[in-house]
Amino acid sequence: MPLKTPSPLRYRILQPADGRYIGLGMFATADFDVGDLILQERALLITTQFIPPGPNGYSAADAALHMAVYEQMLPACRTAYLSLSNSFPSEQQEITGILNTNALYIGALPGYDGACGGVFNDISRINHSCCPNAVFRWDLASFSGQVHALAPVRCGEQIYLSYVDMCNPRKVRQQLLLDKYKFHCTCASCMLRGAGSQYSDLRRAFIAAQAAEDISERKTDDDVLAWTSNPALPERMLVDAAEIWLAWMLEERVMEERLCRVVLSRLCKAYAALEDEEGVKRCARHAAALEKAWIGHDGGWLAVAANPRNTLWWGLRTMPRF
Ligand SMILES: [Zn+2]
Repeated sequence: MPLKTPSPLRYRILQPADGRYIGLGMFATADFDVGDLILQERALLITTQFIPPGPNGYSAADAALHMAVYEQMLPACRTAYLSLSNSFPSEQQEITGILNTNALYIGALPGYDGACGGVFNDISRINHSCCPNAVFRWDLASFSGQVHALAPVRCGEQIYLSYVDMCNPRKVRQQLLLDKYKFHCTCASCMLRGAGSQYSDLRRAFIAAQAAEDISERKTDDDVLAWTSNPALPERMLVDAAEIWLAWMLEERVMEERLCRVVLSRLCKAYAALEDEEGVKRCARHAAALEKAWIGHDGGWLAVAANPRNTLWWGLRTMPRF
């Protein structure tokens, strides 16, 4: 499939002016809403060897494979590749250091079940934040990487991805970033101090704990059905709890994919059961935008937002019982 990247480009690669970054960064030259495609790009290099190196770095065999892949690249791609930053100047070869610094996880590819990584001319320039406003996804159909907005991005703002598990507490994230990418994170979340930082760590721990729970779609359906069939349970029991989970993920900008999906599904069903049409529309539109960022399409949520009264859950809590 051809690339569908917005044209003309809606971003620029620049040196950030705030002095927080040694290298370049990506800046929006247009406004983006949640789910919008910021760019789509083919990789300069893809390798099947995406196993993080051990304490002694990559093996000689890994390095030989990296060089073999590099040698297959076109001259213009080699030049672009060599201009990317290298956090591992002590690696036995520059090619491997650049790969280790810039590769993004793209998952398995047809014919190979292991983890693959891709290095990109522009996407690999995107700086890290522990509260990112964008997400990377690999689009197999077009064999390209995509970056979608995960939060509203205004023209002129820097675009950020997260390089590490954002549910970790601040100290752990900072150590991971220092070990792997050799920088001290000064993102908005890492700059919090005292109670603000402790609260952020707690919320992230709560998000991780919820994501690790049994939060399947089936469990959601069971919970909603139990609540709709028991008038003794508080009217807003389900929506109040789920709105708190959602608010915490939004405030931390930790849109944990599995938890977000279940929370928004739970909210849509509970609001439908309460015949709250605006509640269903708001949550279904939000779910559609996030699915666009994660899977490239709305996942069927726009149909729910268009007609909440057609859902199976409509009025289950409000209808008269005999
Ligand atoms: Zn940070």
